Amino acid sequence: MDEEAKKHYVKAGKVIQDARQVARETAEPGTNLKEIAETVEQEIKDQGLKPAFPVNTSLNEEAAHYTPSKDEEKVLTENDVLKIDIGAQSNGFIADTALTVNPSGKHQEIIDTVEKVLENALQFIEPGVTIGEFGTYVQEQVPEKYNPVMNLTGHYLDQHTQHAGVSIPNVENTSSHKFKKGDAVAIEPFITEGSGKVVHGKPGNIYLQEADRNVRGRTERKLMKTINGFDGLPFTTRWISNYGGRQKMAMRKLVQNGMVKSYDVLKDGQDGLVAQAEHTVLVGVDDGDNIVTTRR
Ligand code: MN
Ligand code: MN
Repeated sequence: MDEEAKKHYVKAGKVIQDARQVARETAEPGTNLKEIAETVEQEIKDQGLKPAFPVNTSLNEEAAHYTPSKDEEKVLTENDVLKIDIGAQSNGFIADTALTVNPSGKHQEIIDTVEKVLENALQFIEPGVTIGEFGTYVQEQVPEKYNPVMNLTGHYLDQHTQHAGVSIPNVENTSSHKFKKGDAVAIEPFITEGSGKVVHGKPGNIYLQEADRNVRGRTERKLMKTINGFDGLPFTTRWISNYGGRQKMAMRKLVQNGMVKSYDVLKDGQDGLVAQAEHTVLVGVDDGDNIVTTRR
């Protein structure tokens, strides 16, 4: 990893540390999820960076990929288990992090547990360790009363790319891929009281441009122009000004035509509670030690 890349990864991480703090302060009972997402995204922008993806606010049995819509109605209640997943990019270098909150404290145990699993996982990573060894170790850290989610993984990061090919499972696997010095990776265990396997739910208001061809229809063309401005990173209709009925129909067409991909919410297969913790790591770059960019 060259110094320039490292500098940007660290800068994005610093901003994300503050965004995590803002997320915790904003996630009070009675707050609309849209306010939480927008306050966190605004913090990133106020510090001169761009969100790497729309802030995810996934509730209870939902694990990931829900972001509030413009007319969001969901309001956080005290017993909710809310996963807030946040990303920022500096010159395309991404910091990716997530925390879980439960205002009443009723479900604090699953949150403390997943945070401990993440801490142990971060300690285990060093150059030469394989992804297979890593997954087996992480699975061993999960107490019997919970299941690790087997089909959600950490991932490599690269400039302008949030999911850069190699997946990092949190369960036993046979990958012989070795972590090496200079790797940028996001480590993100999910644990659940449910089945340990997520399934597709409703569309979660998150989209990604898949192609860049000419499209028919004035509204579709205008919408594609706006979408081009998101630089190939995930976006939400919440970020599109004047998004109304016509634009909604146009977006449906763009999804049907394969121009844009729509992400579904991922939720536990038995609707069990899910908790997540995530940090971004630069492997071995600090005199052989890891830098966890998103942790203060
Ligand atoms: Mn994330
Ligand atoms: Mn991630």
